[in-house]
Amino acid sequence: MNLSNQKALVLLSGGQDSTTCLAWALDRYDHVETVAFNYGQRHAVELDCRHKIREAISSSFPSWASRLGQDHLVDLSVLGDISDTALTREVEIKMEESGLPTTFVPGRNIIFFTFAASIAYRRGLKTLVGGVCETDYSGYPDCRDDSIKALQLAINLGLDSRFVIQTPLMWIDKAATWELARMLGGDDLVDLIVEDTHSCYRSEREHRHKWGYGCGKCPACKLRRAGYMQFRGARSRISRV
Ligand code: ZN
Repeated sequence: MNLSNQKALVLLSGGQDSTTCLAWALDRYDHVETVAFNYGQRHAVELDCRHKIREAISSSFPSWASRLGQDHLVDLSVLGDISDTALTREVEIKMEESGLPTTFVPGRNIIFFTFAASIAYRRGLKTLVGGVCETDYSGYPDCRDDSIKALQLAINLGLDSRFVIQTPLMWIDKAATWELARMLGGDDLVDLIVEDTHSCYRSEREHRHKWGYGCGKCPACKLRRAGYMQFRGARSRISRV
């Protein structure tokens, strides 16, 4: 099996983080494909955002358009069927006694990366790129660097391959993620992420805030808003100097 160093597969959910990862990959690799998973998430609106994001990136960034390859959508509704979480059922978003929020979907990233590797194996894509982050990661244990490194090892042993899992956001916070987008694609990319990506767990896309659409109250909205405000605040402080 021949994996190309210059080919990558980005896990593109349609949110801020994965869209920034897509831009990061388009900046580095000659050929970038995308994959998403339908696992019965209540915020399935994010899956609709993906097509808009791909189209907007292609039209606004011609040098990236030629690198953007196929999109893959994998039906993992079985994961929603077997999970009892706030992302897949009518369950309140809160902290559990275990210290994990009810939005934690057990095994989600392990399953996602494993399926992504199966696609990458067929397509000859050496690098898997995901927006997991240990800095403000809502306490999800499968977002930790150690989890991802162990998964890379397990996948490579199990598939007798040399895949590389890249996680460009692992050690940065949400404000730095906005800044990374600005460095990669300027204000055009920041504006695209504000307008076309979706983070809200409640699928709310009626209210448009400075930082994008969302209820403004769920943990995903709060993280996105706080990061954006910090990013804008830091930039205005810099511009005043
Ligand atoms: Zn929300």
